[in-house]
Amino acid sequence: MITSKVDNVELKSWKTILQQSYLSWDDLLKYLKIRAEDVSGLNILESSFPLRVTKQYASRIEKGNLEDPLLKQVLPITLEERFNPLYSIDPVQEIGTKQQPNILINKYQGRALMVATGSCAIHCRYCFRRHYPYSEKIGEKKISSALDELATRKDINELIISGGDPLILDDSKLEKILEVASSYSHIKRIRFHTRVPVVFPERVTPGFLQTISSYSPLLVIVTHINHPNEIDTNVAQAMNLIRNQKIVLLNQSVLLRGVNDNIDALLRLSHKLFEVGILPYYMHVLDKVAGAAHFDLPRSRAQLLQTKLQELLPAYLVPRFVEEIPGQPSKTSVT
Ligand SMILES: *Cc1c(COP(=O)(O)O)cnc(C)c1O
Ligand code: SF4
Repeated sequence: MITSKVDNVELKSWKTILQQSYLSWDDLLKYLKIRAEDVSGLNILESSFPLRVTKQYASRIEKGNLEDPLLKQVLPITLEERFNPLYSIDPVQEIGTKQQPNILINKYQGRALMVATGSCAIHCRYCFRRHYPYSEKIGEKKISSALDELATRKDINELIISGGDPLILDDSKLEKILEVASSYSHIKRIRFHTRVPVVFPERVTPGFLQTISSYSPLLVIVTHINHPNEIDTNVAQAMNLIRNQKIVLLNQSVLLRGVNDNIDALLRLSHKLFEVGILPYYMHVLDKVAGAAHFDLPRSRAQLLQTKLQELLPAYLVPRFVEEIPGQPSKTSVT
């Protein structure tokens, strides 16, 4: 009884904090001491993928800096509306022709990715899931039928829990997924893909840590950090708490024009990741998603940055530069 009371208080408090996120460009810009008229091409219209930024993330944006690499990741601009035939709403061919796509995606040998929720703590303008038809709530029925399907799939040895952002789900829902998936003898690893510990470290509560601690021998958490400025002392602390549960931490980034497409930012990112106990895993070249063309850059530039990083860092601090080519048996190296 006492425990569930404590859990309730905790649950309320992180949800309450999350509800205080910025949901409009004028509130965000006011806080950042930026005048809307100074932002060229600001998209003032409400789009289907509206602005969403946590207070924590906003606090790491430099006040008054229109070129801030964190601000660029979250501020809607009219360039997103420009049509480009090379960029589609389903660049990685996951939606296919179905109205309601299966939430269990099996693209690669031995691994299945579960889209456990359509919601996120932050809206990243370059995201390839921005056009997805997932309803806000995927619901327990869908999740349990995905878990039932997983039971029969003896060829799968790793479950990747993704989204949206799976850490938006309550601890009880996460617990349920972990409990069922880990009870299958063929599941050897369970991996979370999440941006929450970075953009919303308040979510890393004692209750969350307790939930994941029982499954730690199986767990891998892949964070999503693009720029060294995203890591502050709150993030460092959250990562440390997760690491204390003996959970492997890896990071994936997206290579973004005007955000992290320079050697200095990428070097500092690798160093900072190591400082907080995370090893670089992937550097994704942008998926060609409609609305994100202005973040893209030539493959040759990606190759150059990768080569430079290889010269300047030990191999374990160099992420693999990859792109997603539909139909390939794995992510494809950018070489
Ligand atoms: C990227 C991805 C994975 C994971 O690939 P790894 O190389 O194991 O990190 C699994 N399933 C899907 C659908 C993916 O897009
Ligand atoms: S899925 Fe990840 S990258 Fe996409 S908007 Fe959500 S947090 Fe950002």
